[in-house]
Amino acid sequence: MIRTLPRHSLRPSPAARLAVLVVLVAGLSAGARAQDAAASASAASASAASAHARSHAETLRHTHLVRLQEHLEKPEEDLHRTCRFESDIATLPPEGVVALTFDDGPEPGHTEAILAVLGRHQVPATFFLIAEKAKAHPELAAQERALPGAVIGNHSWSHPNFHDIPVEEQTSEVDRADALLHADLGATPLFRYPYGNSSCDTNERVHTMGYRIVGWHVDSCDWGFDGPKGLTAAEALSCGVLPAYRQDFLGHVVASVRAHRGGVVLMHETQHISVDNLDALIVKLQAEGYRFSTPAAPEYAASLR
Ligand SMILES: [Zn+2]
Repeated sequence: MIRTLPRHSLRPSPAARLAVLVVLVAGLSAGARAQDAAASASAASASAASAHARSHAETLRHTHLVRLQEHLEKPEEDLHRTCRFESDIATLPPEGVVALTFDDGPEPGHTEAILAVLGRHQVPATFFLIAEKAKAHPELAAQERALPGAVIGNHSWSHPNFHDIPVEEQTSEVDRADALLHADLGATPLFRYPYGNSSCDTNERVHTMGYRIVGWHVDSCDWGFDGPKGLTAAEALSCGVLPAYRQDFLGHVVASVRAHRGGVVLMHETQHISVDNLDALIVKLQAEGYRFSTPAAPEYAASLR
């Protein structure tokens, strides 16, 4: 039997929407200021690597807030008709089963650390690779493939926002990644949209190619926990982070897994907060009786599109 979530559980009550929008607009303009600040800071002294990680986090943050805004402002029917958010999983996961997923790798420095922790605990995971990064770091992609139980997924060639590019480019992003990763993808290849931003054309394309689309139940929001004050209210809402956990990454992920009684957990290889907390997360979830699997396992079939 498939347990179902209330449709669009992200959508708050009408009474809350105005207040949220005010917060959201403030958050978006603060984001623009942060981008300016980040741009001047990187020109001054920051290393290329940390500037790269920061701007990636800023992009993730921005797309999350735009996504939330669309959820709040656009009629539900419009979002469905335009296949806008195919990554929202509408069914609950198999009870007690967690699927850790890491997007946007391989990431030198982080990939090795993630694999060391997973290997030590003998926990499988799924890596949604950006194909051009896999091409640049074939040794890291090979190490990921070699982790027992690992699943490699297609996360596009260069990680564009599929809401912003023409259909030919979407097709090329999927096809080029498929060509590079094909041997690693397994019998039922998995695709995850960059930023979760889906389109009707690409849904059809990947389904024709035999892919299943994987979203997530638990958004770790790992890109947002770096600041001294934690997440803003809008950021927290965009990831489903309860107020009590706006400064507590580990607490948020564990609480969200508990709320779903398992689930596909979204993290990023690029974000050190996920790397740094991975060992503690696994220990905590195992202590609570959860076991680990992947979205490719038959038990997760109802959570895929
Ligand atoms: Zn991504």
